[in-house]
Amino acid sequence: MPALSLIALLSLVSTVFTRQWEVHPPQQQGRHWAQICSGNPFNKIRGCDRYGCGNYGASRQGKGEKHKGVDVVCSDGSTVYAPFSGQLSGPIRFFHNGNAIDDGVQITGSGYCVKLVCIHPIRYHGQIQKGQQLGRMLPMQKVFPGIVSHIHVENCDQSDPTHLLKPGKKQTTNV
Ligand SMILES: [Zn+2]
Repeated sequence: MPALSLIALLSLVSTVFTRQWEVHPPQQQGRHWAQICSGNPFNKIRGCDRYGCGNYGASRQGKGEKHKGVDVVCSDGSTVYAPFSGQLSGPIRFFHNGNAIDDGVQITGSGYCVKLVCIHPIRYHGQIQKGQQLGRMLPMQKVFPGIVSHIHVENCDQSDPTHLLKPGKKQTTNV
């Protein structure tokens, strides 16, 4: 019976769509990330200081490499929040030398995967909600005196996360 087949097909298609809807709720698609650090409501990015610049792709002295993340300004000891909802995993270490800021965590979910380093997370595993307290900023001034303290935010695929950090739909011309 063709009519029945069509109905069966339609119900199958709608089931698949419903499932995708659940995995990627539309209200989270294309949305910007939440505030990451207390005291920095617009996820302001570190400019340049004597250690380097905080933008994606900035050159890194000595290594001949480019900056693979973005540095979000965050004062030492500040509260850090989850930029989106997801699953935590870690620890993620950037320096691998056990210095005072060699800690971090990865969040995977909502269609994103990022590593947040130079922070101490409350925990390394489990689920976290967008905007929920994630941890605190580590004492970066102890390791790099005079630097603009910041959280290094790096996409797991090392793509540029800059556009996701800027809140709202307003066009900003800040460099
Ligand atoms: Zn960085």
